[in-house]
Amino acid sequence: MAGAGYDDNNVFAKILRGEIPCRKVYEDAHALAFHDINPQAPVHVLVIPKGRYVSMRDFAATAAPDAVAGFFRAVGKIAAQLGLDDPGYRILANHGPDSHQEVPHFHVHIFGGKRLGPMLAGGRTPPKA
Ligand code: AMP
Repeated sequence: MAGAGYDDNNVFAKILRGEIPCRKVYEDAHALAFHDINPQAPVHVLVIPKGRYVSMRDFAATAAPDAVAGFFRAVGKIAAQLGLDDPGYRILANHGPDSHQEVPHFHVHIFGGKRLGPMLAGGRTPPKA
């Protein structure tokens, strides 16, 4: 069910309601994008859907098809508007404890503006016990 377990007091919910400011780069019916407060690359933008989705599992399983399509089209459009199509960029979405997801509102990170290096920090990781 959409919104199950969603915390309406998470920081991105507050940004969506306009209770906390953000450095907005894009907004349409399906998505809001703003600069990350603690950038990990020269360009680090967060894209969030407007609905109440905790994480990727929730969004993929419960969002309406037009919301999913609209959201991912917005991600592509924003990366292009940021001038990242030619040099390239990375998108990332964290889900759950192993990923270290901090904010429980589904979001996609867009990173760019430099050579981003290997896909994961630290390289090879031992399997979980
Ligand atoms: P994640 O670990 O995938 O949940 O990422 C959460 C991201 O949200 C982190 O990169 C934070 O720096 C970022 N963040 C937290 N609070 C804010 C805020 N008020 N405005 C912009 N970015 C934020």
